[in-house]
Amino acid sequence: MMRKQFAAANWKMNLTYQQAAELLKAVISADLELNENRVVLFAVPFPYLELANGSVLQKKYYFTAAQNCSNKKSGAFTGEVSAEMLKSLNVSYCLVGHSERREHFGETNEMLSEKVMICLTYGMTPVFCCGEPLQIREQNTQNDFVKKQLNDSLFPLSAQQLLKVVIAYEPVWAIGTGKTATNEQAQEMHSYIRSVLEEHFGREVSQKISILYGGSVKANNAKELFACGDVDGGLVGGASLNASDFIEIVRALK
Ligand code: PEP
Repeated sequence: MMRKQFAAANWKMNLTYQQAAELLKAVISADLELNENRVVLFAVPFPYLELANGSVLQKKYYFTAAQNCSNKKSGAFTGEVSAEMLKSLNVSYCLVGHSERREHFGETNEMLSEKVMICLTYGMTPVFCCGEPLQIREQNTQNDFVKKQLNDSLFPLSAQQLLKVVIAYEPVWAIGTGKTATNEQAQEMHSYIRSVLEEHFGREVSQKISILYGGSVKANNAKELFACGDVDGGLVGGASLNASDFIEIVRALK
């Protein structure tokens, strides 16, 4: 069975509108062999979603993603953006629980469970991010740590709902540090995550879930990381801001 493979660009809080337009144009005009199971996502800042949509909606296999959404449906939450608003802009994916959101904006597993649910309610695919900080890795308790993240935020879903979720494993110590997990570390955790999903949702479901790796994916290491059996592409920060680097990363997909 071929799982869907993703090259997902996470621009974070970078680029002006003009730079964003240029980068989108460069990536989209490249000759990339995409198909139903080999797709590109652009997780762009909210003000650029319509710009990105303008480039991707006329092309197959490219999609826009929000970097976050509110856990609330609507109402008096100044500065927040709802899942319903995003869906009404034809945004089909939304990052949920990126480690920077967890760390700097106090997002808890419980809030993230609400965000996952609200994305699904409005027909957006949540890209649920999980992963352990350095001190947890040093204590070698990363499996328990990630299992709790999955347990608290994804186990409330039905199997039918989980099938609409994409997972990104991003060890916090590898994000933006240039320190990539080794292929062995990535494969080991991805296969562990799949086993946790299997235990709770059954084998058939667990085999269908795409699990992306994130953490200093670069043009020169993407191929070997993506070649790992349980790694279904990557969530890419820094290297997604450079067109030729990101293009090479897309080409490294299985
Ligand atoms: C990320 O933002 O999800 C990420 C993995 O960043 P970087 O590729 O820069 O480590």
